[in-house]
Amino acid sequence: MDAVVFEVADGITAIDTFYGGRERYTAAYLLHGNEPAIVETGPTTSVPHVVAGLERLGVGPGDLAHIVLTHIHLDHAGGAGTLCDRFPNATVWVHELGAPHLAKPDRLVASATRVYGERQMASLFGPVTPVHAQRIRGLSDGDTIRLGGRSLFAAATPGHAKHQVALVDSTSGAVFTGDALGIHPPDLPVLRPATPPPDYDLGLAVRSIERIRSLAGELLLFSHFGPVMEVERICDLAVKRFRDWTEAVRIAMERTTDLDEIVELLEEEAERDVETGSQAGIDLGRLEILSGVRMNAMGIVRYWQKRREREAEARER
Ligand SMILES: [Zn+2]
Repeated sequence: MDAVVFEVADGITAIDTFYGGRERYTAAYLLHGNEPAIVETGPTTSVPHVVAGLERLGVGPGDLAHIVLTHIHLDHAGGAGTLCDRFPNATVWVHELGAPHLAKPDRLVASATRVYGERQMASLFGPVTPVHAQRIRGLSDGDTIRLGGRSLFAAATPGHAKHQVALVDSTSGAVFTGDALGIHPPDLPVLRPATPPPDYDLGLAVRSIERIRSLAGELLLFSHFGPVMEVERICDLAVKRFRDWTEAVRIAMERTTDLDEIVELLEEEAERDVETGSQAGIDLGRLEILSGVRMNAMGIVRYWQKRREREAEARER
């Protein structure tokens, strides 16, 4: 099994999970120390790569002490149950709102199946094994996870998902961003927002990006994918992208209620995200697996619908 690992900060090594069979799409990270911990697992289909990576880094079946998840979406956490079977001493940390869904993943799987369809569910994620409830610890905003010699500070960062946390490493100051800033594959000059149903909320997403900006030292660690050092620039860009995409869908919704047409209009916005221009010949289709335009359109449409319902209710009161 391929194991691709590379150091990203003092005592932090990235492990490529080969999500969707692709390199440099989704990372898990090992924090070295007395109590070795990983942040993110990738989906069940990635477990062999993660196990191989950990083995290469000297972390055997009895050694892994913690599995920390930024949120429960399957590309980040779907492999947690299977990984727990391989690493029997690991405690699993996740936002308290996500915890019940790790122990009983039926609803999570049903909701992902509505977005991805049966075929992609099997090929991208594989089966989702529950995590034993006794091994799960629920996090809330401001909690600290002690890893023996270093710790992770958990900051609630809703917007992409209501059960998302960013994690700040006490040793390096690096922040694990999950999907709060969207996705940023290292070989594409693109930062794409991630606005899936059912939770996406623009106001919360922007507040979470600002929270990450205020907590970050010099390094952000994207789950998709890898280290980014230009904290200010990338936070500015993320705010702009989330706002632009959300606005593009609002304008599209004034013209049509047809989702296909809204997706087409949002695709035009996506083209504008490529900073180097069309001459770079970038295959934006490659991003569909990580953060598809259709999925993002569905999330933003839902956001505007919920917002209008709230406004209408407020008017009636
Ligand atoms: Zn996500």
